[in-house]
This record gives sequence, structure tokens and C-alpha cells, in this order.
Amino acid sequence: MNAVFAEIEEQRAILETVRRFVRDVVSPVADELDRRDDPATCFSWEIVEKADAAGIRTMTLSQEWGGIGADSLTTAMVIEELAKGDIGVAVVMAQTLKLAQALQKTASPEQRAKYLPRFRDDPRCLLAIGITEPETASNYFIHHAAPFHTSAERTDGGWLINGMKHFISNGNRAGLYLLFAQTEAGKGLAEGSTCFLVERDTPGFSIGRVHDKMGERLANNAELVFDNCFVPDANVVGAPGEGFQVLARFFPQSNTYAAATVLGVAVAAYERTVEWARIRVQGGKPLIEHDGIRAQLAEMRMLNDVSRAYIHRAAWLADNPDAGWDRTLGALPKVFASQSAWKVLTWASEIHGGYGYMRDVGLEKLLRDAAAFLHSDGVNRTLLLKAANFIYSD
Ligand SMILES: Cc1cc2nc3c(=O)[nH]c(=O)nc-3n(C[C@H](O)[C@H](O)[C@H](O)COP(=O)(O)OP(=O)(O)OC[C@H]3O[C@@H](n4cnc5c(N)ncnc54)[C@H](O)[C@@H]3O)c2cc1C
Repeated sequence: MNAVFAEIEEQRAILETVRRFVRDVVSPVADELDRRDDPATCFSWEIVEKADAAGIRTMTLSQEWGGIGADSLTTAMVIEELAKGDIGVAVVMAQTLKLAQALQKTASPEQRAKYLPRFRDDPRCLLAIGITEPETASNYFIHHAAPFHTSAERTDGGWLINGMKHFISNGNRAGLYLLFAQTEAGKGLAEGSTCFLVERDTPGFSIGRVHDKMGERLANNAELVFDNCFVPDANVVGAPGEGFQVLARFFPQSNTYAAATVLGVAVAAYERTVEWARIRVQGGKPLIEHDGIRAQLAEMRMLNDVSRAYIHRAAWLADNPDAGWDRTLGALPKVFASQSAWKVLTWASEIHGGYGYMRDVGLEKLLRDAAAFLHSDGVNRTLLLKAANFIYSD
């Protein structure tokens, strides 16, 4: 990767593969899956298997583990491309790609040797991360003094986990989970929580409700329920009481990938709107020839380009921190990209007129999809406050 963030040849080849995958596998089925009533059935294993066959599911694994060792910038580019086809598919993959990176960075050599080959060899193995609980949500971004309600108590050879998580992306579909639980009562999250690797078929671990989301429907979100679930000491990631250190290692990528996801939706909306403005004639000429609309389209394009520049800078610096990483880059790119996407979608809807409100035109799906990232990966206000604390509290 070079420092001017131009696509290099290798990235172009990867992105071409992803575009083909979106065109041939995702686009033909996305609208039909999105409209299904039962949220669980909006998810497609066929898409996951074909993403695996195209090398997308495992691309952040290093060559040592059988992937291509995609860096964070390339991964952000791939996620934007996927989201141009469908945001849910982008989320299913983004969670998996980011957690595969996290496992390589934070898991012990024994954990890597045990779990990475399993992940690589099972085309259906997705990854999920369980942090959010009904009572402990924005707290883990800004107010680390509160504890998790999900607890893990020491027992012979390991830990007994009790409690529940909710809103978890890939919750009901993953094979392997990174789970955060309180291991020291009386302490806050920052000092008293621990990260565990939990296998899907562990006794005492079950899936609760699959959430019925307004958008991003091709990704499933679910509750994780723990009832005296035994996890051995060997599955503690990092050290007991150091869950937040583990989390801090991949907040940067997480924010960047979330930003790239919502950017993909905004780009899809922009492209559709330009197309619409070329064919829709009012006032005796195509909409695109009316100055107000032309200027608005340029503004939409500008917002998308600025989001991308911010995302690419953060993604590159996440891998090259010595070149000038600062902690706000792990919080603000998603805020900017999701706020911009929301504006782009509002304007896209206005330029489509009444047609934009009709389901068969396709824009309303993008509106529902873009709304996901005002909250997902941290509510925007919470992330602004987190960044403010970095900037003004030192
Ligand atoms: C589509 C989707 C996917 C998700 N995927 C995952 C996942 O895979 N794993 C996971 O663990 N979580 C996941 N989440 C959870 C997500 O991270 C949380 O929704 C988010 O952190 C906010 O929590 P909350 O929804 O309970 O909002 P709350 O914490 O209840 O916040 C409500 C409002 O209060 C504000 N607020 C809260 N505290 C403060 C404060 N101290 N000062 C000022 N304002 C405050 C917030 O900014 C917000 O505006 C997902 C959520 C969604 C919607």
C-alpha cells in the first residue's frame, strides 16, 4: 500500500472479484430476501458459501493461516463494495473479517492453532462478538465504571458464564464467538471484564430471539443466552480482567469497517439517483439538467468522497500507527460516514420524488439500511463524546 491511498494493482484484482460476486450472487437475490417477514429467513447460507469460494470470507487471514493477509485498507475497500450490493451481506462479512484479524492479534498461539484452521476449513464458519447487553450498552464506549451483567465465575479448570447479550450481529449464525463478561464483581468494565472464546455448541449456551430489524435484513442479529455455561481457562483471550485491552486492539478496524459499510449504501443511493435524474423528465428536460438538482448530486458525490478519504486514512493508519494514528480515528469516521449517508439518502429520496417512497423502485430499502449505522458500532453521539474525551481530557 502506498501513502496516497491509490488502489494498487493487487487491490484492483481483489475488488474486481468482489464486484463479480456482488453482481452474480448478491444483487439477484437481495431484494427478495430483504422482504421476507421472518427475520431469520432473510439470511442466506448460499451467499456465505459463495463468499468463501471467492476467497472473501477468509481474506484477512495471513498466508500462514491460509488467507491472503488483506490489510485493513483493502478490507475497508472490499466492505464498501459488498455494501453497494447489500448492507446485510457486508455486515456478515465485516464482522467475520474483523474478528479473524482480532484473533490473529490477540489469541494465544495454542488458541490460534486450534481455532484458525477450523475457521478456515469450514465455509460456513462466521464470527460474532458479544458485548452489548440490555443494561450495559453505550457504557462500554464511554463510562467504563459500570459492570457487565453477564458474569463469569471461577470454577475447576475454567469459568461458569451466566447472563445474556443482545443485538449481536451473526448471533444465531456464527460458529465462534468473542464474548465479554464480568469476572471481578465491584470493579468497572475496564478493570473487571474478561474476553472468552466460546464455541457455538458449548452446553449452557443458546440463542434467544432473532431481532426483527427495520433494515440490514440479510444479516441476522440475535440474543446470546448463557446458563451455567462452562468455558475452560484455555479459552480466555488475553488475561483475566483484561477484556478491555483485547477490545481496544480492534476498535480501530471496527469503526473503519462500520464506516465503509454505510458508505457503500450511500454510494449505491447516489448512483441510482444520478441514473434516475437522467431519465426522469420534468419542466421539459431531464432532472439532471436542472441546476438545483445537478448541484445537489455533486454535493452527494462530495460527501461520499470525503467519507471515503477519512475511512481510508483511518484504515491505513490502523495498520501503520507510527505514521500518525490518533485515537479519534477509532471513533469519528463512522460518525461522519453515517451522518453523510443519512443526508445522501434524504436527498436521494427527494430527487426521486414520490417514486422514492414506492418499494418497487428500491430506494426505500437503502433508506432503511442506512439507518442501521446511526446506532450500530456505537451510537453517533456516544462516539462523539468518546472522541471529545480523547481530545479534551488529557
Ligand atoms: C444493527 C446493529 C448491530 C449491532 N451489532 C452488535 C454486535 O455485533 N455486537 C455487540 O456487542 N453489539 C452490537 N450492537 C449494539 C450497538 O453497539 C448498541 O446498540 C450501541 O452500542 C448502543 O446501545 P443502545 O442501543 O442500548 O443505546 P443506549 O446506550 O441506550 O443509548 C441511547 C441514547 O443515549 C445516549 N447516551 C447513552 N449514554 C450516554 C451518556 N453517558 N452521555 C450522553 N449520552 C448518552 C446514546 O448516545 C443514545 O443516543 C448492534 C446494534 C445494532 C443496531
